Amino acid sequence: MVRRKLVVGNWKMNGSLAANSALLADLSAGLMSEKIDCDIAVCVPAPYLAQCQAALSGSALAWGAQDVSIHASGAYTGEIAATMLCDFGCRYVIVGHSERRAYHAETSQLVAQKTVAALQVGLTPIVCVGETLAEREAGRTDVVVGQQLDAVLALLDASDVAKIVVAYEPVWAIGTGKTATPQMAQDVHAALRLRLAAKDAGAAPMISILYGGSMKPDNAAELMAMVDIDGGLIGGAALKAADFLAIAAAA
Ligand code: PEP
Repeated sequence: MVRRKLVVGNWKMNGSLAANSALLADLSAGLMSEKIDCDIAVCVPAPYLAQCQAALSGSALAWGAQDVSIHASGAYTGEIAATMLCDFGCRYVIVGHSERRAYHAETSQLVAQKTVAALQVGLTPIVCVGETLAEREAGRTDVVVGQQLDAVLALLDASDVAKIVVAYEPVWAIGTGKTATPQMAQDVHAALRLRLAAKDAGAAPMISILYGGSMKPDNAAELMAMVDIDGGLIGGAALKAADFLAIAAAA
């Protein structure tokens, strides 16, 4: 099964109208001139979704959000509904990023509900899973990421399993400059795909599993050459057009 590679930038809480304008222009220009043959997207802070819609409509660069509410509407101050993301042309939404799990106490059950909320309106959820350093050192990586994924799979209708994207992001590698070796990442990706297959053997080969955690131009090619690594979720390097484009070109 040949899965088309997907490279997604996670801007986190960075940017300004002026800085984004320059970055999006550089990315759009680069996409036209460089040899990039993968799906590519940026997940930006919610206030900048309208800017993406205005700047990127019709471009090969898709966009999305970094979180979504489990509620459709109502008295949920500060929350953003999935339909609102659709109003601004989003294709993707990240759910369960480790920063939201750590700083906003998001449980795997909540992440599962967010995944469902995204799927209900046709958004592609990028479901993040990953272990801490202590969990890896205790030999618990597969158990931890397996439980995080299973919580999501438990809520999905059979017809929806193939519609998710999974991102394996070891917490110890995010923003630290430490990257999982290609083989370390491949081992976890293969275990995740087995888990997906246990839920839906037909869907598992179709689901993109991205690697995230200090992916840079100089390590992207070897990571994405692994058989179960279908692209990258990129934090820091997504804020520099040249780096992000180089990673996409390596995909
Ligand atoms: C991320 O936050 O999703 C991420 C992968 O960050 P970085 O690339 O900076 O490690």
